Amino acid sequence: MKDSDVIVLDEPRLSLADQFYLPQVLAGLGTTMKHMLKTVLVRDRVIQYPEERREDMPVDEGGIFKPSYRGVHRLNKDEEGRVKCVACFMCSTACPAACIHIEAGESPWPDREKYPVTFWIDELRCIYCGMCEEACPVDAIELTSIYDLVGLTRQEMIFDKEKLLRVYDQTVEQEPM
Ligand code: SF4
Ligand code: SF4
Repeated sequence: MKDSDVIVLDEPRLSLADQFYLPQVLAGLGTTMKHMLKTVLVRDRVIQYPEERREDMPVDEGGIFKPSYRGVHRLNKDEEGRVKCVACFMCSTACPAACIHIEAGESPWPDREKYPVTFWIDELRCIYCGMCEEACPVDAIELTSIYDLVGLTRQEMIFDKEKLLRVYDQTVEQEPM
């Protein structure tokens, strides 16, 4: 390596205020105060939950209602009301939280080889990244805009196939595939 390739950086000289992080602390407090005043005075984004709910969820552009919020999962059904999933394990492989569990079985239908005998998602482990949705080759798994997910036990937060299919039934009108 030539000497001319070496870049020598001088250590920046900090003022006394910089050494105590004062400008940064004051800038941070200013941002906090700005948001607090906006929230209190303009009542921006304040709702009385659960009596009031957020109805202004962000949607995809193009006029089609496709919420970009990533909430509770659903398993989609095909035109014949069967689970669309073909048990290919792409979603569980892509899942960084390892919270999707699938057991595949021989399909009872002639148009596919496999289907999920068991399929569950631990909604408490999930980080709602959407990787499963992206990985699915047949659009069988989707995240809905349901954000008020509550349960009294950990077991309630494990959504099995039947529950995921029920979420589809509940959301398909408002959020078509
Ligand atoms: S949203 Fe992300 S973390 Fe949750 S199940 Fe899908 S891939 Fe896993
Ligand atoms: S939900 Fe999609 S990606 Fe996951 S196993 Fe079923 S078909 Fe494959």
